[in-house]
Amino acid sequence: MPARYYLHGDEAEGQSSTYFCAICDSFEAESHFSDDAHIRKAKARLDATKRGLKKLRAASPRKYARPSSARSIFKLKPKLLKPTTSRFHRWLLRQADRDDLIGDLATDVASDPLFPRNTESRAKLREHLRRRAADSLALVALDEALREFRASRSSRDAIPPKLRFEILRRDGYRCQLCGLSASDRASVRLEIDHKVAVVKGGTNDPENLWVLCRKCNGGKGAGDL
Ligand SMILES: [Zn+2]
Ligand SMILES: [Zn+2]
Repeated sequence: MPARYYLHGDEAEGQSSTYFCAICDSFEAESHFSDDAHIRKAKARLDATKRGLKKLRAASPRKYARPSSARSIFKLKPKLLKPTTSRFHRWLLRQADRDDLIGDLATDVASDPLFPRNTESRAKLREHLRRRAADSLALVALDEALREFRASRSSRDAIPPKLRFEILRRDGYRCQLCGLSASDRASVRLEIDHKVAVVKGGTNDPENLWVLCRKCNGGKGAGDL
């Protein structure tokens, strides 16, 4: 019985829907291979295991036969080998020249090979920043970046970024009602609120703007104070 030699991504024999991950040295479900860190390593790892197999076969050709029925997840799902970059990630990298918090975040992200590239999920991006021990300002920057990115796509951006960051700085990056900051817990999301709502004649004058967390902002109704 020839030894079974698994290439990175090979289906486990007798266990369909489970594939060998040479990066983790374990058998994993399909979703495991779409993990961002894996996508970037997958091609190199596949090439390395192929080279390894070639060497073993050269030494003892019959012993290391790879069954012809071996199915590779990368053959079944060729897309897994292509790193995808989210529109948000591409947008963020273009902000690196800015002279504000988003510019700082963009610069950090550009030099962070592990920053998740294929997601626009706030929870996942935030989790990554926390793992990197990013400070409260980076978390504020992330929320502002996501908000601005989405606003730029719906062309509704009532308060200019420069002014938003002025207000955030002035208010110490904290909700002016409950005092929470972005790093206190994941659910805290800081927003710039009009004290007098725009529909009631409120302006973008700094006097009329303050930082609230989403919870306090939501509890306040439509901009009345
Ligand atoms: Zn793995
Ligand atoms: Zn609050």
